[in-house]
Order: sequence, then C-alpha cells, then structure tokens
Amino acid sequence: MMNNQGRPTNNNAASDAQITGYKSYTGSRGLEQEELLIYEIGDTQRTGVDLPEVEDFKSCLGDVERDQEIGLAGLSEPEAMRHYTRLSRKNYAIDMGLYPLGSCTMKHNPRLNEKMARLPGLGDIHPMQPLSTVQGALDLIDTLAHWLKTLTGMPAVAMSPKAGAHGELCGLMAIRTALEAKGDGRSIVLAPESAHGTNPATAALCGYKVVSIPATSEGRVDLAAMKDAMGPEIAAIMVTNPNTCGLFEREIVEMADAIHAVGGYFYCDGANFNAIVGKVRPGDLGVDAMHINLHKTFSTPHGGGGPGAGPVVLSEALAPYAPIPYVVAGEEEFNMVEHDVEGGESFGRMTAFHGQMGMFVRALSYMMSHGADGLARVAEDSVLNANYVLASLKDVMSASYEGPCMHEALFDDHFLKDTGVSTLDFAKAMIDEGYHPMTMYFPLVVHGAMLVEPTESESKQSVDQFIEMMRHLVKAAKGGEVERFSGAPYNAPLKRLDETGAARNPKLRWED
Ligand SMILES: *Cc1c(COP(=O)(O)O)cnc(C)c1O
Repeated sequence: MMNNQGRPTNNNAASDAQITGYKSYTGSRGLEQEELLIYEIGDTQRTGVDLPEVEDFKSCLGDVERDQEIGLAGLSEPEAMRHYTRLSRKNYAIDMGLYPLGSCTMKHNPRLNEKMARLPGLGDIHPMQPLSTVQGALDLIDTLAHWLKTLTGMPAVAMSPKAGAHGELCGLMAIRTALEAKGDGRSIVLAPESAHGTNPATAALCGYKVVSIPATSEGRVDLAAMKDAMGPEIAAIMVTNPNTCGLFEREIVEMADAIHAVGGYFYCDGANFNAIVGKVRPGDLGVDAMHINLHKTFSTPHGGGGPGAGPVVLSEALAPYAPIPYVVAGEEEFNMVEHDVEGGESFGRMTAFHGQMGMFVRALSYMMSHGADGLARVAEDSVLNANYVLASLKDVMSASYEGPCMHEALFDDHFLKDTGVSTLDFAKAMIDEGYHPMTMYFPLVVHGAMLVEPTESESKQSVDQFIEMMRHLVKAAKGGEVERFSGAPYNAPLKRLDETGAARNPKLRWED
C-alpha cells in the first residue's frame, strides 16, 4: 500500500516474521550482522595505535596511582570501525525516519549546520586559547545570545548551561541567590502535575520542597489551586508552556502576576519553545527565567547524537545573579568575564568553560538560514503537523483533551481497554513496523499517555505513512490480534527487554 511502484509491499510484517521463524547460524539477519560486546571480541593486548614508549617521567599521583592493569578491551582500527558501525545499524536515528518522541522535538538537523560547525576556525579551537585568537568564536556566542534574547524578549542570557535540566538548575540557582540577597530564605517551589521530572528534581536539588499543583480537566494548570497555594514561602513556580499535554497555558500572565504578588519568581520550562518560536515572546508573559533547549528548538543533535545546550534567558531582576563566565562585547574586542566583578552577585560557575560551542554554531546557523519568517514558520508547521496527527487519529485512538493542540498530540490508552493489548505492547509493535515509539506514560496526568510530536521537518507523505501505520495497529489491537503485540518487537535485534530491571539493577562491569 505504501509503495505504488510495483514492488511488493508487505502489510503483515508480524505474521511474516513468525513464518520465516528459522534462525541463521550466525545470528545475523540478512546483512545486518550480529555483534558481540567489545569485551567478548577484544582483549587488553590489542590496540589500533602504535605509540612510542613513554620516556622517564615523575608521577605526581602519589599513592593514588593505579597499580593494576585498567583491563579495558582493545581492538585494531578496522575491528573498532566495524564494531561501532555494526552497533550503529541496530540503532534508530532521525536520519532514518520519523521520531515521534513527544516533548523531545526530534527534528532534522540541517547539514548546513554540520558544515558550519566543522569550519576550522570554529571546530578546531580550544577553550584555553588566548582570547585574541578566538574573537570570531566570541562574536558568534554574542550574536547567538542576541538572537536568543530577541526571540524571547528577555534582557539577559546565561549561555553556559549544557542541557535543559542544567538550565533549570541555573535558573533556580539564580532565583535562590536573588532571594538570599534580600535575606529571604523561602522553602517551596511549585510545579504542576504535568511537569517534566527534571522540574521537581531541580527544585529538590536546590534544597526546596516541591508542592504539586493539580491540572484542570482541560489539561492546564488549575489557576485557582495555584493561587490558593500562594504565600510568603513560595520561592518560584516552574511552568512549561506550551505544557507537556501539548496545550498552551492561556492563563500564564495571571500565573506570573500571582507569583510576583507574593515576591516569588516565575520559571518557565522552555523545552517546548518550538511551538511558539517567532510567535510569542516569553518575556511579554512575565517570565523571570527560561531555559531554551538548543538541541530541540534549534535543531542541534541530541539523544545519542550529541551533547545538549540549555542557555537560560533571565529577567532584569535575575540578570545580576547569572553565572560566570560570560562574553562581553567591548569597543574594540570581545572579552570573557571569568571572575565576578567587584561587588558582583553572580552565583558562581556551572561549567569549566563557556558552554557547548559546537551547539552554538549549529543553532546560529539554523537561525540565520531560517530568518525571522522561517522561524515563525517552524512554529506554524510544527503545530499544523501535530494537529494533523491528532485529527487523523482521534476517531480510533483516545485524544486526552478536547480541541486543537500545539506542537504535540496527546492520546491516552482508553482505546486499548478490553483488547488485551497493553500500552507498552502497542509501543513495541510500532518497532516491528519500523517506527520509534512516541513518548509513553508521560505526562503522568492521563492514563497510559502516548505523546506524539511529529515536528515540522516531516513531510505530509511521511506523516501520512505514520498515521496509516497507527490506524492499522489500532485495528489489529481492536480485532483481537493480541499475540502480535504481546511478544513484540519480533523484528528487532533484541526482543522484549526488562527495561525496569536494567534501570534498577544495572550491571556496570563486565565479568567473565
Ligand atoms: C527535554 C525536556 C527537559 C530537559 O531537557 P534536557 O536537555 O533533556 O535536560 C525539561 N523539560 C521538558 C518539558 C522537556 O521536554
């Protein structure tokens, strides 16, 4: 059905996998090779490099010097190449297909960004080089900072945090320092029920007690409950907008006013900025601090693909407490402020250097190649694609909330009731169909959540194929094909894994 060029297309992959059920001698499937662990194929004597003997040297390690072999398995260069290439083919990637993980914005990373990041003047520099030799790189950081401030309508930005969660930590540390500067030792941070786990974790790490605010039946923060919780002990509220149900928090200005009225700060989790970039400026909504996941909205690689970057925009009130180091544009040249100025109030340093340079280059490249109109289109198209998914599936799956969504469509598992197919089974069957599952069981406010974020970089054809596949699976589940789901994935290199066991009881050391 998906192929109308005369090549046979298999619409029944699960049963087909059962029919061909004989195993190959090698464990490989077609030309996808089975691969053992590096400890099984390598040994401590093998290496891909031939280094000269170390000359006499004096160790500075004293009695902490290792006296045994480190015991890491080595491979020759071609063996190492094959090992990792084979493993990579068992992995999924945005370059292979739609990656519908909600709240993750798994969009295409334009190759232009990669080309820019590899320019020798940007890719081959070192953070300890003299500033006079990296003026262009500092200019780039300053320019990116300018556009982040412009897009968010905020006066300041801390560039150094290295992920969204790290940005949250930065924002809350600035808030805590600002309060302490006034001698105000507040103890509570509010977070809505639908919050990403990093929000309460960050607040707890900063020593705050986390109080949860319930959601309304519409999937938004219950403003009345939030106002009831207000008081002199509230240091901040952390709200995601659009929220993790894929809905815009329409009462966000009222929330900001309520928290400001009791002397607290408004932290906005900006991970979902993709839905509103170029359309809404969080600074206009009363936000005091917000992290921006460059690896989501601005297309820098993430997941297994690369480090993140989580710059934090700050309001006038919080700007003095921003972390060091930061770049300042002087009359003649750019400078890096490494130590707090005399009488300064910076809360300190979060990272050794200035942040994730490679991600800065990619994000700026993405912004400049899109332009202001292109960035607004990003928001429009991401919202359009998500609504197309929602509208095309809500007759067979259960949409959690009425009405249109923002950049992601939230379903729950009511449609699977009495089918004998669990939410997890359904996700695993998607793998057999060549799709990475969407975000499962998050947000926690609905039963068996399935959060689909197609992003704007998917074509209509690609989204249509996804919808067609999902409708097919729903029909199979409702039609009693339980086995197809309960043992899924049948076609993956490894079958159903005990993911909880692996997380609770990780084996971190190879033992013969
Ligand atoms: C992704 C995400 C985060 C955390 O960002 P990381 O870069 O993964 O640390 C926080 N909040 C929300 C809503 C997110 O989607």
